[in-house]
Amino acid sequence: MRNNEKPNKKKKQNDKENLKTIILLVLLAIVLAGAVFAYYTNIKEDKNEKELAFTELITSINEGKIEKIEMTTGSAAVKVTLAGEGDEKDREKTVVVPSIQAFMELVQEKVDKDNIQIELIQKPVNPILKISDALFSLLPTILLVVLMLMIFKMQGLGGDSGKVYGGEDGSKPTGVRFNDIAGLDEEKDELIEIVDFLKKPNAYLEMGAKIPRGILLYGKPGTGKTLIAKAIAGEAGVPFISMSGSEFIEMFAGLGASRVRKLFEKAKKMSPCIIFIDEIDAIGSRRTSNSGSETENNQTLNQLLVEMDGFDTNETVIVLAATNRPEMLDKALLRPGRFDRQITIPAPDLLGRENILKLHSENKKFAEDVDFKSIAGDTAGFTGAELANVLNEAAILATRNKHKEITNLDIENAVKKITVGLEKTNRVISDKDKKLTAYHEAGHAVVSKFLPTQTDVKEVSIIPRGLAGGYTMYKTNEDKFYVSRTELLEKMVALMGGRAAEKIALNEISTGASNDIEVATGIAKDMLTVYGMDDSLGPISLKVDDPYELQIFGDKVIDQVGNQIQVLIDNAYVTAQKILTQNMDILDRVAQTLLEKEKITSEEFEEFFKQ
Ligand code: ATP
Repeated sequence: MRNNEKPNKKKKQNDKENLKTIILLVLLAIVLAGAVFAYYTNIKEDKNEKELAFTELITSINEGKIEKIEMTTGSAAVKVTLAGEGDEKDREKTVVVPSIQAFMELVQEKVDKDNIQIELIQKPVNPILKISDALFSLLPTILLVVLMLMIFKMQGLGGDSGKVYGGEDGSKPTGVRFNDIAGLDEEKDELIEIVDFLKKPNAYLEMGAKIPRGILLYGKPGTGKTLIAKAIAGEAGVPFISMSGSEFIEMFAGLGASRVRKLFEKAKKMSPCIIFIDEIDAIGSRRTSNSGSETENNQTLNQLLVEMDGFDTNETVIVLAATNRPEMLDKALLRPGRFDRQITIPAPDLLGRENILKLHSENKKFAEDVDFKSIAGDTAGFTGAELANVLNEAAILATRNKHKEITNLDIENAVKKITVGLEKTNRVISDKDKKLTAYHEAGHAVVSKFLPTQTDVKEVSIIPRGLAGGYTMYKTNEDKFYVSRTELLEKMVALMGGRAAEKIALNEISTGASNDIEVATGIAKDMLTVYGMDDSLGPISLKVDDPYELQIFGDKVIDQVGNQIQVLIDNAYVTAQKILTQNMDILDRVAQTLLEKEKITSEEFEEFFKQ
């Protein structure tokens, strides 16, 4: 249930803010453009009202309806004043004439006869209107240019080329040392050589040794990749320039590549130093031949490859990159001279977890009963970041509960909060739902008790936590490298225990089993397609990068996978039902106790099997 995705929060926040500003600017531009358009149209309408067609003018002159004619030198427009009462301004009209001379020839006789006033003006008709016309017609363009400039600025056209620690600009060094990293001893040993390289590059160069260029750190989010990269810089006392892969991804073509160029230029000036590119998969994914944004990404990646090839032998710049999706990377990145060293940063083992907990316990007050070894035992699979988070959550819970120190219970609750979510004691649940949850959880617990490979139950609860209506927690007693086929099959049986209990005890099934079903189906699928554990299919891997590759196996194999997934799930469900029907009395008692007490500890659970 744990969520291992740890997005680059800061970048996301920045992106959000940038997006907000862009949306605001676009809205502003639309509103302004709309206003300008409306204003402009108004003037036009106003102008239309004030305009008179040439033929109308001739008719009006012949009918004696014109009082005055103003003509402007060099203009084909004449201003006329209609005869009548009221303000003269309201009676003014503009007329475009083919030519002043032709017009005068046409109306001279009538003008003389009616004594129409004729005026010759030396300036253009209504010049103010002309200037504003020109200005208003340019305004949308001006606005657009301003908008584009602002977006470019936000996108960092000038170039944000990495956050620097320990540069000559007075920025602080990373300050991280190898002592700040718990566990990861082999990885540190491997990297100590890089520290030495950075400290005395000349000694290596004189010996004819080549400086390592790129080191790729693989590992789940939160395993300490950034920490270890910072520690190398800290130990060597060199500047650390860090940038995240996602910061290279830009809306405008060519910007990503230009940022890569700037980043390397900056690093060369600071040599010896370290460049750290986090989430390198964001730019280092396999290149495609498609167009659009992918071409932009390809350009960025190409630039990175060019820069990595372009170092002089005496430039002591080491590029460290981190990813948790190594399979996504373009093979060109891993060639010699580029990221030719790859180091896996694993989730910590039992001792590693204990040490990480101890390291992060500094500056916190703990009660006597806190046993980091036992907490480490309960947190198999947790990364360094998650363990740091456990202690932080525990400190928050202790403060909220007005404890003087952080107790073991605070830490246990913090672990549960992180794995299953916060306990929701106030949620109102109907008796029917409670009964269903009680049987469902009792089903998991009882079934797993009869499965030799499954670990002991640690706690069963029907108090909702996070999205779960209830939960069954199991003890973790060892760190394992391999999982056996029997263990996977029995895990599926334990998962099916919940649904099987609902059906047997209440003759009903519910949506509560959806997550169990999803996990069980995932296990079955992996057994067949990744681990080659199916006898009928044999040890083949159907893990492919592109679904089209599956075609080489033919429809028969694909059908067989589908059928076998169903067979595995069906078998697991039938086994779970069998165990429960043979132990109905225990299932009932566990469910009843859960309904009364809401929670059962591991000791209380074991009692049911002693009687
Ligand atoms: P991401 O892939 O999400 O960037 P990451 O692998 O780079 O993650 P870090 O950012 O280095 O992980 O680790 C996050 C935090 O977890 C560290 O700042 C540190 O507090 C803690 N941490 C992780 N591993 C260790 C460790 N081995 N020793 C001590 N603290 C650790």
